[in-house]
Amino acid sequence: MTSSSATRQTGFLQRAFTAVIQWFDSDHTPGGADKMRAEEDKVDWVRCIPFIILHAGCLGVIWVGWSWFAVWAAVALYFLRMFAVTGIYHRYFSHKTYHTSRAGQLFLALWGATTVQRGGLWWAYHHRHHHQHSDHEEDAHSPHIHGFLWSHIGWITSRRNFPTDYSKVKDLAKYPELVWLNRFDTVVPAVFATAIYFLGVALERFAPGLGTNGPQMLIWGFFISTTALFHGTACINSMAHLMGKRRYNTTDDSRNSFILAIICLGEGWHNNHHRYQSCTRNGFYWWEIDPTYYGLKLLSWTGLIWGLKPVPQSILDEGMRAEHAASVAAAQKAAVIHEHSPFKKVVPAAAALAMATVNTSSAVAPKKADGPAVQRDVTEQTNPSPAKPQQPNPPVI
Ligand SMILES: [Zn+2]
Ligand SMILES: [Zn+2]
Repeated sequence: MTSSSATRQTGFLQRAFTAVIQWFDSDHTPGGADKMRAEEDKVDWVRCIPFIILHAGCLGVIWVGWSWFAVWAAVALYFLRMFAVTGIYHRYFSHKTYHTSRAGQLFLALWGATTVQRGGLWWAYHHRHHHQHSDHEEDAHSPHIHGFLWSHIGWITSRRNFPTDYSKVKDLAKYPELVWLNRFDTVVPAVFATAIYFLGVALERFAPGLGTNGPQMLIWGFFISTTALFHGTACINSMAHLMGKRRYNTTDDSRNSFILAIICLGEGWHNNHHRYQSCTRNGFYWWEIDPTYYGLKLLSWTGLIWGLKPVPQSILDEGMRAEHAASVAAAQKAAVIHEHSPFKKVVPAAAALAMATVNTSSAVAPKKADGPAVQRDVTEQTNPSPAKPQQPNPPVI
């Protein structure tokens, strides 16, 4: 073995050892977090192991089977925890769109940690960074810059995206309990998975009619539900900048999508959110379904949270103006396409015949209300003189 290959092997082992420790202590960054953030942006295969375990765990369904209780538990835990991603990690930790007490904040952080999407501070740091650099080179998960797969899952495995930059979340980092949960971010998921397992064990013993047990609840309630939750959330990073319509002319390519709004409990109104991040709702109108906002409204009635921030009227007005301008532009574009369609090329010939008939037989002149039979532009292009109408057409809007 040459000395260079031995050095490479030692380096790999050191990195692998560090990655294993980081599963238990995410603030363990030998050499400093800044150095890690400056590394090359690429997949770290050791960091992929938890993802592989999570996905492979879903295959356990082959051995544990299913029951209605386990399936519905998986669905319920998906939505309860999607609410935690959107209503807590996103709309509270990242954007502070409502208020809560310190105890309430800890409760929300614990709820958020069950999502297995690392700590609230890491999540908020990366999300704020995304808003600062959306769809530009520095954006860690732009599908336009880095491609679909990288924006969906690859970026999380990169070592440079691993450490939390506490200087970017100072408002959260001043609470030691939040920093602890962020640092030891596998504790809550481990407790959560264990609790689900023992719930299944208890149900098998005390409610055998439900047909479930510990391993079955672990596979459905934790592995399948969490894997679906991960991909549902990741769709916002990968798809919400590709799929849907744009109401606001933001500097990124964020979009509004009804389908993503259903999958992610209202986060699909991503273009609205990129335009104005400080309000509690992402769906700006009643028809823009935003279940996270409804849930937060319900929580505000319990007193756990308060001070939900509305959408400013100026932002709504701006959206209406932008939509009006877009519909006018679309109509004009449609008119141009119509003018150049193959069908239109036939019309001038028919019009020329009609006009010739009128001139020679002194037939009844067309009434003004009927309007010209021929679009002026096309007539000019194909047959400038005989069929040219006297009056210009009204604008087609
Ligand atoms: Zn956001
Ligand atoms: Zn975005």
